[in-house]
Amino acid sequence: SHKVHIVGGGLAGSEAAWQLAEAGIKVRLSEMRGSGDTTPAHHTDGLSELVCSNSFRSDDAERNAVGLLHAEMRALDSLIMAMADAHKVPAGSALAVDRDGFSQSITAKINAHPNIELVRERVDALPSSGLTIIATGPLTAATLAGSILETTGSNALAFFDAIAPIVHRDSIDMEICWMASRWDKGTIDPDDPQSDGRDYINCPMTKEQYLRFHQGLIEGEKTEFRDWEKDTPYFEGCMPIEVMAERGVDTLRYGPMKPVGLDDPKTGRWPYAVVQLRQDNALGTLWNMVGFQTKLKHAEQVRLFRTIPGLENAEFARLGGLHRNTFINSPQLLDPTLRLARAPHIRFAGQITGCEGYVESAAIGLLSGRFAAAEISGMPLAPPPPETALGALLGHITGGAEADSYQPMNVNFGLFPPIEGKTKKADRKLIYTSRARAALSGWQENIRTKP
Ligand code: FAD
Repeated sequence: SHKVHIVGGGLAGSEAAWQLAEAGIKVRLSEMRGSGDTTPAHHTDGLSELVCSNSFRSDDAERNAVGLLHAEMRALDSLIMAMADAHKVPAGSALAVDRDGFSQSITAKINAHPNIELVRERVDALPSSGLTIIATGPLTAATLAGSILETTGSNALAFFDAIAPIVHRDSIDMEICWMASRWDKGTIDPDDPQSDGRDYINCPMTKEQYLRFHQGLIEGEKTEFRDWEKDTPYFEGCMPIEVMAERGVDTLRYGPMKPVGLDDPKTGRWPYAVVQLRQDNALGTLWNMVGFQTKLKHAEQVRLFRTIPGLENAEFARLGGLHRNTFINSPQLLDPTLRLARAPHIRFAGQITGCEGYVESAAIGLLSGRFAAAEISGMPLAPPPPETALGALLGHITGGAEADSYQPMNVNFGLFPPIEGKTKKADRKLIYTSRARAALSGWQENIRTKP
């Protein structure tokens, strides 16, 4: 009979099953696809199906946080990374995979493992006993989601994930825009990653420009919600700008485009409306348009947002969007080894913990499997150090993030403990990654030499 029950055979569940099985522990892996059920985004019955893009993003372990995460997972014998490497397709410095080969080989590996029993079944309630890992992803079936809600006592589980557009700093026209926080005139040191928080880039609008922009939002072509997204409520503070625009011509001027307290240094007065951008990454190279989550079509966003004064030549690192996502408030609910504090026989793994992305989901799956295996062996495993990508991501989920405003997050250097002292911008990433390598090998050494 099995020792651990894993629910969900996606990126996280497959990886967790593999880690446990390789540690000699028997696993039951329940996957609802293949039993007549599916999710709105999956198309096959294969394990670890990639529901959208086929990219694991940058594979650069020296200068990129997700590339570093790849390397750390390989060092811990990740099945997902091994199969991604085996099914790699050309994509420059990114790791992209042949999605069918990738999913089929994972399904075959899991099926063939003597310690894993793959059962095609839907699980509708959190098991009341027995070590369990819930890895049912952003599209967790509704009945199980209900059971999770009941057990965690939280008041919400399915949210819209709101994405505001992100602009490259060097494409913003600072002859037109200026930096200030509301009611003050603070400045930012672009070489100091700690100097963010209160300072914004402000794009001023005249009445005429604002009215034209408002009209553009109303008339702009939007992407439709998919059927399964329609009855999900808007998360507090993430209403699309075009929905706000429809409520009245001044709604945005009293909301995200409020000019109050923002003196334009050119006129000494508040503009009619303001678009604010906030620093989005520690390096200060990317800035997000505050409150500008939207379902406008991508081409429409580029066209309309380039009518904003100062953004005429804006280059977008990411455009806005909204999609359904199911995740728990992990910082509030989980302990440092991913156990549900009020029912510690249950662990969570993957996107449902509030990480974002294929690689991150698999990474948290890997850790959940390792933690469960260690618990069974009677030698608890310390979480990986925060200087590692695995540790930084885990720390964000299990405690680092603010529980009140917890939002899904990709791995990034902003989650790592800052580097002490002055360093050249160009060296910073290399310092992060070499520090991470040292920390990971120390941690692994520690595991190996434990009695
Ligand atoms: P999944 O891979 O979704 O695995 C969960 C599994 O649990 C599924 O196989 C499901 O069938 C099963 N399941 C659910 N409920 C039950 C139940 N009650 N009983 C039994 N089985 C159940 N990330 C990227 O990096 N790149 C992208 O391009 C990308 N695109 C995305 C597009 C969409 C529409 C969505 C929703 C997410 C996207 N993501 C993307 C985010 C995320 O990384 C993936 O969703 C990823 O697959 C999450 O891994 P997971 O293991 O947590 O969940």
